[in-house]
Amino acid sequence: MRLGFYGATRTVTGSKFLLEAGGQRILVDCGLFQGLKDLRLRNWQAPPVRPGSLDSIVLTHAHIDHTGYLPRFVSQGFEGPIYATPATVDLLKILLPDAGHLQEEEARYRNRKKLSKHHPALPLYTIEDAMATLQFLRPLPYGRVHELAPGFTFQFLPAGHILGSSFIRFHEEGTPEKTVLFTGDIGRYNQPIIHDPSPVERADFLVLESTYGNRLHGDRNGKGGKDQLRDVVVQTARRGGTVLIPSFAVGRAQEVLYILRELEEENQIPVLPVFVDSPMAADAFEVFHAHGEEHDLEMIRIKKSGINPLYTRNTRFVRSVEESKAINNQSSAIIISANGMATGGRILHHLIHRLPDERNAIVFVGFQAAGTRGRSLADGAQQVKIFGIDYPVRASVHVIDGFSAHGDYSEILRWLRGFKAAPRKTFLVHGEPNAIEGMKSQIVKHFEGWQVEIPEYEQLYEL
Ligand SMILES: [Zn+2]
Repeated sequence: MRLGFYGATRTVTGSKFLLEAGGQRILVDCGLFQGLKDLRLRNWQAPPVRPGSLDSIVLTHAHIDHTGYLPRFVSQGFEGPIYATPATVDLLKILLPDAGHLQEEEARYRNRKKLSKHHPALPLYTIEDAMATLQFLRPLPYGRVHELAPGFTFQFLPAGHILGSSFIRFHEEGTPEKTVLFTGDIGRYNQPIIHDPSPVERADFLVLESTYGNRLHGDRNGKGGKDQLRDVVVQTARRGGTVLIPSFAVGRAQEVLYILRELEEENQIPVLPVFVDSPMAADAFEVFHAHGEEHDLEMIRIKKSGINPLYTRNTRFVRSVEESKAINNQSSAIIISANGMATGGRILHHLIHRLPDERNAIVFVGFQAAGTRGRSLADGAQQVKIFGIDYPVRASVHVIDGFSAHGDYSEILRWLRGFKAAPRKTFLVHGEPNAIEGMKSQIVKHFEGWQVEIPEYEQLYEL
């Protein structure tokens, strides 16, 4: 058995791991690199693993940093099955065509502005490539054991990160038998909407995410979460401003609405129009409703009482560009728009419109990767460049980490305490350098005899 690391090494994007066992070559996740330029350039290099040489791809969850490179692999010759949970498959039907659209748009923009040394600048992949990818998706429910080769199987377990998110457990018979568990992104305990991360008791080899390996989140229901959002909404409404929430369309947007609904029901905030300005988010809401198998007890209880848990009293889904532009005339509102790190999408024109006015508030509710516009705003930038023009930041900027979809290090340690024996090796991935080192020292400090590795890009291990 052999394991290669081709992404998410000392960074949080581009997840790609090659597992070779039972005569099979399997890629776990096929993510797009995002953020810093050096990383993004990797998207354009020849793939480190020849797509046509793979037997299958298995996905932990639908986020683009885990799936956004699939269309490029398909356009370069991959034609095997892509296994994912049913909810992940449905979310990818929304996310991948949108990713193709964004790639085409970026290429058009570069051509128009003559920003590329290539003439014409080509997209990394097209909507057509993304559509072609969908035919290879194979849904597989949680818990079902799937045989890849005689004596070599895998199954999905709920990871509690977003709808459809899973750990992947591979098992190879033999002496000794071997289990390899990939966490993808680990979610949180007692979060709204979806199940908690499943307990795991053993794995011979563990590939563990470390996004928040050196940080603790604020309390979701208290000062670092719900209370903070309440204060921002109340203060902004009082001064006649608008609250702008850059958010991933899938997961974050639904959770933010869930919490805004609670705040309204508890009369903690005024009832304001809430615009969900992302056609993709609107589609994602339907997938969230459809997948009852993903819902936790609280979500089921609220649904049974006849309330839609994911709508506030005045939620409006905005699909067309005209409707989106019309929101500019609206004050005293809440706008949720994608994307979450403000690197592209409709959020940009809202930022252009809202940043220069001190009555407004910008609220970040998800992780901001290094090199993104979201990160500079969160770090207190006085101005930001959008489409080549500098805009002053006069709106107040807030970071609420209590709503994160990733467990912080204490939650990851809680999950690791479920292990009955130390894995033979634990590989840390999906964390920026400080976070990943932080996670390593936490594990070494709390667990005796655990061997922890931080793999480098393109590093190979015999298991
Ligand atoms: Zn994720």
